[in-house]
Amino acid sequence: MFDSVKSLVLNYSYEPLQFCSAKRAIIMIFNARAESIESDGYVVRSPTITFKLPAVIRVLTMVKRSKPRDISFSKKNILRRDNFTCQYCGGTDNSLTVDHVLPKSRGGKSNWINVVVACKSCNLKKGNRTPSEKGMRLLSKPSKPSSFWPFFIIPKGPSSHLKIWGKYLPVSIISK
Ligand SMILES: [Zn+2]
Repeated sequence: MFDSVKSLVLNYSYEPLQFCSAKRAIIMIFNARAESIESDGYVVRSPTITFKLPAVIRVLTMVKRSKPRDISFSKKNILRRDNFTCQYCGGTDNSLTVDHVLPKSRGGKSNWINVVVACKSCNLKKGNRTPSEKGMRLLSKPSKPSSFWPFFIIPKGPSSHLKIWGKYLPVSIISK
């Protein structure tokens, strides 16, 4: 249990940062790099010491992180937004590229709402046309992602942990 249970790590400002193993959380506390914020009664015993398993810890120095709103427009991030899936045929082969919905040659901009993931064959098929001119349909309407929270895949844990974590995580993540 000690190895599989996770702790939520908060920034100095109490913003959630990521999850780490409870073991790592305890090491951080022992090294005075973090403090325990909440624990829910689970106790870890070693021959010489007994301590409460932390459900939430807070680092004691501010960790700088890029804000979700700073996601840069890039091919890599378009791929992530579209889940590495061609937005015309749903294909996920390794020929994926990006496609301008309104072609560049016709004034299409390189931005979040005009660029989507496409496989090579859809990209070729579409050519210099718009999707409707070619009878193609987008699987979803492209938009700027509001945020990427790659760290916040909530780990499995005792329900008491999940309840505590819920207090510190954005609602949009809890409800997933
Ligand atoms: Zn395709």
